[in-house]
Amino acid sequence: MNEAMHVPLVVIGAGATGLCTALAAADAGIEVLVLERDATPLGSTAMSTGLIPAAGTPEQAASGIVDSPEIFAADIAKKTKGAADAAMAINLARQSAETVAWLRDRHGIPLGLLDGFTYPGHSAQRMYGTPNRSGGELMGSLQAACEAAGVMLLTQATVTELIADGDRVTGVRFGRPDGSVETVGCDALVLACSGFAGNAELVARYIPEMAEAVFHGHPGNKGDALRWGEQLGAATADLAAYQGHGGLAHGHGIPILWPLIMEGGFQVNLDAKRFSNEAAGYSEQAAKVNAQRDHVAWSIFDERLHQLMCKFEDYRDALSAQAVVRADSVGDLAAATRLPADALAETLAEVAALTAGSATDRFGRDFTGKPVLAAPFYAAKVTGALFHTQGGLVVDDEARVRKPDGTPFPNLFAGGGAARGISGVGSDGYLAGNGLLTATTLGKLAGRTAAAQLAPAG
Ligand SMILES: Cc1cc2nc3c(=O)[nH]c(=O)nc-3n(C[C@H](O)[C@H](O)[C@H](O)COP(=O)(O)OP(=O)(O)OC[C@H]3O[C@@H](n4cnc5c(N)ncnc54)[C@H](O)[C@@H]3O)c2cc1C
Repeated sequence: MNEAMHVPLVVIGAGATGLCTALAAADAGIEVLVLERDATPLGSTAMSTGLIPAAGTPEQAASGIVDSPEIFAADIAKKTKGAADAAMAINLARQSAETVAWLRDRHGIPLGLLDGFTYPGHSAQRMYGTPNRSGGELMGSLQAACEAAGVMLLTQATVTELIADGDRVTGVRFGRPDGSVETVGCDALVLACSGFAGNAELVARYIPEMAEAVFHGHPGNKGDALRWGEQLGAATADLAAYQGHGGLAHGHGIPILWPLIMEGGFQVNLDAKRFSNEAAGYSEQAAKVNAQRDHVAWSIFDERLHQLMCKFEDYRDALSAQAVVRADSVGDLAAATRLPADALAETLAEVAALTAGSATDRFGRDFTGKPVLAAPFYAAKVTGALFHTQGGLVVDDEARVRKPDGTPFPNLFAGGGAARGISGVGSDGYLAGNGLLTATTLGKLAGRTAAAQLAPAG
């Protein structure tokens, strides 16, 4: 590659956002180059569970699930207490069903509607995932689709600088492992290089409550899109918003996912006492767990929930890593976890009463409608972690980056972690799946809009 190289559309970052952008542009016959800093494209996307929400789909209707973009947008408004951008939320909700159908039917991404549980804040079952509910599987299939579509992907290409003429981006510079710097010109640029959770200085500035927490996201998320956008004079929003997780297996770095909580599991601190409404959401649970002694909690569940969780690759990894203990009785559970036995027995009895509906939870959680937990019991020691940031560059309905006066840059787009999301202003607005919703759908929209702009007239 040399200085004379020019590609109509350049995309920075090969996670879900970048690869969806590339697929949409390739659909329209536009030549696209994706530049990725890592040797193998993985990103946060490969670390994720790969779950993407979609509302008003034919599969939901066939399963008798009542849902619509309006219901989904109302869930987003409720979870963020009205702090998410309402126009962006309804736009993404309206696009969501088409995004999943497009990825599956046109590009062979194996996405199916999950059944059996509803994530916190979602009023309907609307989560789509790959057979093993794995972000690695999602990334593998996106990459295969890009190869089939003829997308050019250059790895070990770390973009260091945008080249602009006024507000129009004309190219980028990127570094190679041998220390050389190369330049490629472009007619349009998509920032798909995610957020800033991997930049400790920015996290301390914008999200101080998670500055000391374990970071369990992609280390390449250094905040480059935010920095370049700010240099160009782009609008930014919701920089304190983030996706945390209150269930990262302590010392193992494997998420113990939330279906086990939503279906009846609970968390205790080292005194074997519950300390929160665990079902409010896993993101805000991170700070609640970290406020406990030693910044840890135990997630407690049973055989039924263990069987449910075995469908998830992350959970199977946690089992292999011996991050989950099994016990035949409450006494054995206390011994295995070193939790005080009397207090643990008391908490389990309290949860049984809450599940049976004979008591009211002081934290406001409704346990009813699920079976009472029964031996054998399972438990995992967890801590609260930072996964991914949710604030970023403000974009319009077509993923164009906006200036503070609301007007769009002529040829600059952003999506996924690079863009401001729909998670409100803190940790408690994150609704499961909305990371990949903004990645896949804004990626798709950026690719389609850029392609329409670049397509020869007629
Ligand atoms: C453990 C975990 C679990 C999660 N689970 C879910 C889930 O189930 N559902 C959900 O919706 N969301 C989930 N998320 C969030 C979700 O993963 C992200 O919202 C989404 O993957 C963001 O996609 P992206 O393409 O914007 O970023 P990424 O997938 O992070 O991709 C960005 C890419 O850009 C590259 N890059 C960065 N800077 C440069 C540069 N200067 N030059 C070249 N390349 C660069 C990076 O190396 C990376 O490959 C999870 C996140 C984590 C960490």
